[in-house]
Amino acid sequence: MNNLPQGNSSLDAPVQYVKGIGPKRAEVLEERGIRTVRDLLYYFPFDYIDLQQVSTIDNLRSFTDSGKWITVIGSVHRVDLVGRPPRQRVIIILRDATGSIPLIFFRSVTYFKKAFSPGETIAVSGKVTSYRSRPQFVHPSIDRMTFDEEETGPDGFLHTGGIIPKYGSGEDFKNVNLHVKGLRRILRTVVDEYRDAIEDPLPDDIRIRLDLPVLKEAITQIHFPDSETSLQSARKRLKFDELFSIQLLLAVRRNSIKSDAFGISFNVQSSLARRLVDSLPFDLTHAQRRVIKDITDDMKSPKPMNRLLQGDVGSGKTIVALLTMLIAVENGYQTAFMAPTEILAEQHYATLTTLLKDLPVTIRLLLGGQRAKLREDLLEDIRNGSAQIVIGTHALIQSGVEYAKLGLVIIDEQHRFGVAQRMALREKALNPDTSSPHPDVLVMTATPIPRTLSMTLYGDLDVSVIDELPKHRKAVQSVLFTESQTNSLLRFVRSHAESGRQVYIVYPLVEESEKLDLKAATESYATLKSQVFPDLRVGLLHGRMDSAEKDSVMNAFIRREIDILVSTTVIEVGIDVPNASVMVIEHAERFGLSQLHQLRGRVGRGADQSYCLLVVPDWMAASIKSRSSLPGLPADDSERQKAVKRVSTMLETSDGFKIAEIDLDLRGPGEYFGTRQSGLPELQIANLVTDGEILTTARREAFNIIEIDPHLRSSAHHSLRKYFTQRWKDALAFIQVG
Ligand code: ADP
Ligand code: MG
Repeated sequence: MNNLPQGNSSLDAPVQYVKGIGPKRAEVLEERGIRTVRDLLYYFPFDYIDLQQVSTIDNLRSFTDSGKWITVIGSVHRVDLVGRPPRQRVIIILRDATGSIPLIFFRSVTYFKKAFSPGETIAVSGKVTSYRSRPQFVHPSIDRMTFDEEETGPDGFLHTGGIIPKYGSGEDFKNVNLHVKGLRRILRTVVDEYRDAIEDPLPDDIRIRLDLPVLKEAITQIHFPDSETSLQSARKRLKFDELFSIQLLLAVRRNSIKSDAFGISFNVQSSLARRLVDSLPFDLTHAQRRVIKDITDDMKSPKPMNRLLQGDVGSGKTIVALLTMLIAVENGYQTAFMAPTEILAEQHYATLTTLLKDLPVTIRLLLGGQRAKLREDLLEDIRNGSAQIVIGTHALIQSGVEYAKLGLVIIDEQHRFGVAQRMALREKALNPDTSSPHPDVLVMTATPIPRTLSMTLYGDLDVSVIDELPKHRKAVQSVLFTESQTNSLLRFVRSHAESGRQVYIVYPLVEESEKLDLKAATESYATLKSQVFPDLRVGLLHGRMDSAEKDSVMNAFIRREIDILVSTTVIEVGIDVPNASVMVIEHAERFGLSQLHQLRGRVGRGADQSYCLLVVPDWMAASIKSRSSLPGLPADDSERQKAVKRVSTMLETSDGFKIAEIDLDLRGPGEYFGTRQSGLPELQIANLVTDGEILTTARREAFNIIEIDPHLRSSAHHSLRKYFTQRWKDALAFIQVG
């Protein structure tokens, strides 16, 4: 769990032998992953109590409006809820031996009403303001004091001042009598006793250039800061280390793929690709040409391609992928083209079959539910090489599928593959068990990946970006509708459908209540079909249908035999029907931001003006329209606040990058990618949302080092190498580090 090298160091001593720990506590610590002294040193405080400026209550007057951060310690005298919304507030009267002062809370009143009870001792910190010339604290930060902290003996910290660390504890700790103060004492001992054993793996020149403290200083200061400034530089150093070691790994991986592995040197003059380009009813965009150049340069090179193709929804990635595949085909190699879902695989299959109808290329589709006989035939064609392009889901490179001559793997992920899964796919594609050359790998993703994340997730890939939409494409106009405006919404839908455009109406599908949501979609379908639009053709698509049913509905929509398609989110991914120009999103407040963006991307693909109608409850519309304050919306209802932010973002911008940044900010990196095992490294102190600058620096330094000294063999990099190989033992299993 730590970032330091394991080796023969006193830091590897088991925690059990640390003064104040012993076998019982050691066991509890071990459960939390704290086994050695080193682990303990990396058990950072989660917060601090700033007792640098402690005052008695009678003296607060002299700090009023000084802007200084002041702490007082006292006991809760009474708690009152006063006034009516929106001026409702909680007033807590705090007392010490010298007087009393009110603490005022306007937000989260329900919480503060109950949070503290009379008699309880708390430490209150904040800036002192005045009301009617009497001092008060408004929304100060409050720390509950546990009994052992109230102590005023020589050990009691109330009299020591300074910045006091707070360590995460919990029932397990308390069971072995390990309380806040006990932990603090143990850490004090460990830091004092072992700090000199902490080696610094970071080369001095980098450390000095970046103005970072040495590691032992940073570790000391993160636990027991001398000042706010030294705490900040300690944090900066430790964040840097965390990000730097990840970037170093990425740099090594990228370097080893480039230098050690042998790939295929394709001849990129492809008459098949030329014929396809000539047959297209449009010209490729400038950006498409540019990324094709990047890709063909990679393909020419005998090094395996390991490239990420980013492009917002509708930017035309599919055609780029197809041209790439044709080069592989012409060179006698097979392509595996992986889509995130079966429905999308089917659509790719249909699209590619149409585009290639005049070209002598064999495309096959491998799906889960296929009959045994068909499946056997398919597997045989893949094995004997007659299947030149194989489309499917990630099952394509799972065991049992053998390729005669796999030359190219394209992963169209559209945000759907978990990151861990994708890394495994790539690893597998990059490391075939055979002695044949590595296939080229192209990962495609809809742009919305904030830079900080792509640097971490795709940091070992070369990146090409399609940053331009095909010409003549008008931005989709997004419009807000409330539930009570259903009639005008339906009139809007009707007018478009009557003029020959097609319409999607999408309902959210939340896992816990799948049945309920399904009901919303099916019921609405029934009403729309029989009562609202009896003269129009209304279709229904949802995840519970089998793939044949889904297919026939989707194909009917593509053939314009359906005017209005009612659907759950299955259409979200990649579906392409240029004649569809209206996207209605019911319960827009329930969708994730990237998902909304993806849905909106389903329209605006033709030359007509397209619309995205976001339908939200009435309370939300009121909040969005009045912007700044959110009436009727309690401030502590952060879920609702976030929903408001998502929908208003959709109304304000269609910039995929911007939307992604906001989405990441709202959800945090873990959730952003769906699961906890997203494959994102667990960061202890750095934050991918807010530490972009440190990340950029860490990346630059790491890649520099590997460029100059790929195997970290120079003497200046001795400790770094030791640290690095220990830190990434597992990840490095398949990489030659020299
Ligand atoms: P995405 O990048 O979202 O996968 P697609 O590859 O599905 O986008 O392309 C979206 C639509 O744009 C398709 O109908 C495709 O045929 C069309 N298209 C692709 N490139 C161009 C272009 N250069 N000019 C006009 N239309 C294009
Ligand atoms: Mg696509």
